Amino acid sequence: MAIAVMTHAPTQPTVNYADLPTHVQDHFDKLMELADNAANATEYEALMTALIAITGITGVRHNEIVKCACTACYCDHVFDADDSNALVTEETDAGYNLGRLQCPDCADSHPRPVEN
Ligand SMILES: [Zn+2]
Ligand SMILES: [Zn+2]
Repeated sequence: MAIAVMTHAPTQPTVNYADLPTHVQDHFDKLMELADNAANATEYEALMTALIAITGITGVRHNEIVKCACTACYCDHVFDADDSNALVTEETDAGYNLGRLQCPDCADSHPRPVEN
């Protein structure tokens, strides 16, 4: 008899970029680049949806993830951009393209003030 195989991944709010398979990293880089240069919010949302799907991150609040932009270490955390513990180091100007954020761990260990 056929047995249904459940392949649901456990909940994971963050992933390490380095832990992603190489082909996923390549895909991730390309999608992030496109998202950063997205012409409008609809395009950005679609790219973010794809990014969240390929990384397997779950529980994202507002359909937006980022790779840690910490300059104090070689952190490669990919996390929910709306995590209340993340620290914005550079605001976005257009309102929908990527901002530069430190992940909660970096925000806690070596926070960097917003530069104007
Ligand atoms: Zn970090
Ligand atoms: Zn850091």
